[in-house]
Amino acid sequence: MTGTEDRPSSLVADWNTLHRVFIRPEDEKSRTTLVKYMEQILFGLHDFLNKHVGVTEEISLIKLAEEYTDTKINIEPQKKLADVIKDIIDVIAPRAVNVASPYFIGHMTSAIPFFMVHLKAITAALNQNVIKLETSKVLSVLEKQILAKIHRMIFNFEESFYLEHVQNTDTSLGVFTSGGTTANLTALWVARNLCFPPKGDFESIEKNGFHAAMTAHGLDRLVILVSKRGHYSLRKAAGILGLGNQNVIPIDVDSKRSIDLKKLKAAIKDLTADKKTRIMALIGIAGATETGIIDPLPKLADICQQHKIHFHVDAAWGGPVLLSEKYSPLLKGIERADSVTIDCHKQFYMPMSSGMVYFKDPRALDTIVYHARYVIRPGSVDLGIKTLEGSREANSLILDSALKIMGSKGYALMIEHGIETAKLFAKKIKKRPLFQLVTEPKLNILTYRMIPAHIRKKLETADLKEQQELDAILDEINIKIQRIQREAGKSFVSRTRLRNLPDDPHNVVVLRSVMMNPMTTGRILDEILDEQESILHSLEEP
Ligand SMILES: *Cc1c(COP(=O)(O)O)cnc(C)c1O
Repeated sequence: MTGTEDRPSSLVADWNTLHRVFIRPEDEKSRTTLVKYMEQILFGLHDFLNKHVGVTEEISLIKLAEEYTDTKINIEPQKKLADVIKDIIDVIAPRAVNVASPYFIGHMTSAIPFFMVHLKAITAALNQNVIKLETSKVLSVLEKQILAKIHRMIFNFEESFYLEHVQNTDTSLGVFTSGGTTANLTALWVARNLCFPPKGDFESIEKNGFHAAMTAHGLDRLVILVSKRGHYSLRKAAGILGLGNQNVIPIDVDSKRSIDLKKLKAAIKDLTADKKTRIMALIGIAGATETGIIDPLPKLADICQQHKIHFHVDAAWGGPVLLSEKYSPLLKGIERADSVTIDCHKQFYMPMSSGMVYFKDPRALDTIVYHARYVIRPGSVDLGIKTLEGSREANSLILDSALKIMGSKGYALMIEHGIETAKLFAKKIKKRPLFQLVTEPKLNILTYRMIPAHIRKKLETADLKEQQELDAILDEINIKIQRIQREAGKSFVSRTRLRNLPDDPHNVVVLRSVMMNPMTTGRILDEILDEQESILHSLEEP
């Protein structure tokens, strides 16, 4: 037993106390504290975070971990609600990461509009479970409506199509998921099942299993093709779906850093030569996680059409760009996809965590239907019949409300700001002699690295071997710069490894930045680069 020694005598777990804490704050003090903090959180989140949350407080992870080693659940209550909230504000928040800071430009997790917190709180308070109508009612039909709206944004079918399907209980235009990973998994699950139509005794891979499916169809191998920039969730999906992740075949990228079509076509030819291998899906990336690059979707659609391959577009990041009239042409070809992943907690600026997957064919999800006797009965409108997830929160309410509050135009403004800020950042990087832009921003992501003057000079005349050695030194420098800047706690960029020039034989360490915070300005970007320069100078001092 733990936590009883220093426990005030007022803290007991009896039926009366429980009854009180279940339905309202324990006492006036709790209520006052709760209201005070919730007011700050709900109405002044940005000021509040800027005051309370450093990117990381000056405390090492090792020290921090030492404070969290108590592994026994306390039997009696330890704290009142007011004290718990105070602890969260005083102890947890300052040691969390201020992802809302406009100086935090390293990840796809960023500031969210303040009203998202309200919408999330309301969704939690309603506590609807959209697995079935009996626990969600209007939220189930609202979800179908928003699914149709986003489906229309992607595929843009006729009005009559949407009138037929928007509230059709037999068909599904898409589903909400817990994120991009499960959205990709759902898309590939459907693609896998569609790949194996019934044949003789064989009914379906879902029922008879992988071995029976491969045998019935006379196959040895099932593969998925994607450029080497494919998100690692695709490999997880291949593992879970029984293909094995080595059968996600990474296709090299070309000089534009998108999938190399020549190499793709050669791979398809090679793979299908023996008739024992089937290509389950070809994936186009619309906003690669590392570079923001978009694959040539119309060309991929042609290839899929020609070879009868399921065409999945991973638009987890880039999907909402469709809301911008100015930049939506970048995603041309997405309307020819069989399935599309879009994350809500990325460029729909929703709180963690929510994603979506869409299918061109409203019957595609029939291949993953499951029923249970006590819920999701056949013939019901229960959304849980065709989802990977079981119980699920009503994230559709947040997306629907956010679109009402901001309109597609509001989203477009944020997305355009991100892309244009990335272009501005690229310009600034190119102007500074200590920096090298590695990938131009196609969307709002770019990569670059720092190169000290003396190394730049050597690089000019270096042969391949010398270049490799110099790159190794640069890797170390850039890793250090990124780490020192992160630990200083004011700004944050992330890092990854890419080829410097598309034809280089080896990868180099690059700094990666993602522009999605509408508060990130040119002045802030200069400050971030200035800081990196001064870190570089401090490294060079003897
Ligand atoms: C983020 C991302 C994913 C995975 O999404 P999660 O929400 O993190 O599970 C998949 N694909 C791409 C391109 C992504 O950017």
